[in-house]
Amino acid sequence: MTILILEHPRILSSIHFNDIANTPLWSCLMGGYGAAILKESGLQVKFLNAAEKCWDFVKTKEAILEISPSLLSINGIYLWEHTGCFFDFIADLKTSGFNGHINLFGFFPTLAWTKILEKYLQVDSIIVGEHEKTLDDLAKCMENGGTCQDIPGLAMRKENSLIYNNKRQPEVDLDGFSFPARDLEGVSTASILASRGCYNHCSFCPIPTFYNNGPLWRGRSPYNIFKEIKELIDLGIRDFYFVDPNFVGPGKKGKERIIQLAELLAPLEITFGMETRANDLDSRLLESLVKAGLKSLLLGIESGSKKILGKLNKAGSLNTSEKAIGLCRSFGIEPEIGFLMFTPDSSIIDIQENFEFLLRNNLLDRLERTVNLLSHYQIVLKGTAGYNLFKTQGRLEKIGALGFEGEISYADNAVEWLKEVVVHLCRDLLYQMGQADSLIHWQYFDDNKEIFKKINGALVQVFKELLKKSQKGRPFPDPEITKNDMRRFLHGFV
Ligand code: SF4
Repeated sequence: MTILILEHPRILSSIHFNDIANTPLWSCLMGGYGAAILKESGLQVKFLNAAEKCWDFVKTKEAILEISPSLLSINGIYLWEHTGCFFDFIADLKTSGFNGHINLFGFFPTLAWTKILEKYLQVDSIIVGEHEKTLDDLAKCMENGGTCQDIPGLAMRKENSLIYNNKRQPEVDLDGFSFPARDLEGVSTASILASRGCYNHCSFCPIPTFYNNGPLWRGRSPYNIFKEIKELIDLGIRDFYFVDPNFVGPGKKGKERIIQLAELLAPLEITFGMETRANDLDSRLLESLVKAGLKSLLLGIESGSKKILGKLNKAGSLNTSEKAIGLCRSFGIEPEIGFLMFTPDSSIIDIQENFEFLLRNNLLDRLERTVNLLSHYQIVLKGTAGYNLFKTQGRLEKIGALGFEGEISYADNAVEWLKEVVVHLCRDLLYQMGQADSLIHWQYFDDNKEIFKKINGALVQVFKELLKKSQKGRPFPDPEITKNDMRRFLHGFV
């Protein structure tokens, strides 16, 4: 029996082209982990990473029809407004003669499994939660000709109803998983997953729900991570990015584990990046990581308002955030910042506090960072605590495929007005920064430093002016006129 694990094509969103919130970063390794466990079990498996190859759905369909697997298992990624194309592709496969079993796994299918199975009859089963062991059971069961209806973690359709017998608890020992299959052609930075889950429960984050709502963080042993990196070095990779939602992990033990890992990595002369919570950093840890090759770091700060940090259930303080930023700089690392300028419960005072926080910590001095920090807003996805709360409050309108996104009514009209104008302006700039013929294309930064600097200064000034306008209260200026005026002003610098 041939099994095909697929990373399906991605389509860039015209609205969310700069948002990565549609799925956690580590999704990119899910297909590879799935293929690896089946290979380890001695099953005949192929891994097609159509996303990495930049294939479209037509080319991917042709490749699948040629392989003609009995089991096609796909890491289903939410593609914002293009999600329908993914389901059209599945339907198209069936009408083109594909008659194997179609299985989905990953964050989006886990969080929307009932809706998907109800609506898309071409999907035969969905793995809910951590996928590897369930996928392995499904493949073995199919090979033995079983019905597969009582596999823990597997949801499927039976006649007119859905079957989902048992949840499957996530694996305790991550070292038991084989290293993920990879397509390294053209890859210079390899993603590595050193841990899974998170011990916190931020209201906007799908990680806790995916792992059965447990405050569950699990780490691989330092030696196991080292072994995988060593194998990749032998294949020519020297730069890595840890895609863990929470790289350091909880408490003293979490830090000690990372220091052990850093000691193993230091002699390898690699470089790497990582993402973590502000409260998990200290100077001993950073010193070890920098010695081991740390060159970039993203801190999940989220807000400069104490009230909003509480609403987001961030379990962090402003003081801790500011200390962490300073600490990174003292080791020569300029941190990237995860930040939500606009949330549905923000007041204009919260936005003012956010702005002051960013200015106070010298975070608005680079256009590519400023444009993100001033415009990011809370995206509310199904399965998160925030989605459920806003729904209960009657403030959520379901949008997107299967209502996977929630549009939330803002508590403060002034914030809503400001968000509309600022997000529009920043998107416009971000779009230009992605255009090869634009003076502010990100690759021209070294040649056009003065232009970048001027636009950055102008953008900060525009935000300040708009904030003042919003503080004056109703009536707010027509957002369309304001957008056009501000856009003309910013374009004057290019
Ligand atoms: S700290 Fe919050 S946002 Fe980050 S992974 Fe944990 S729950 Fe998610």
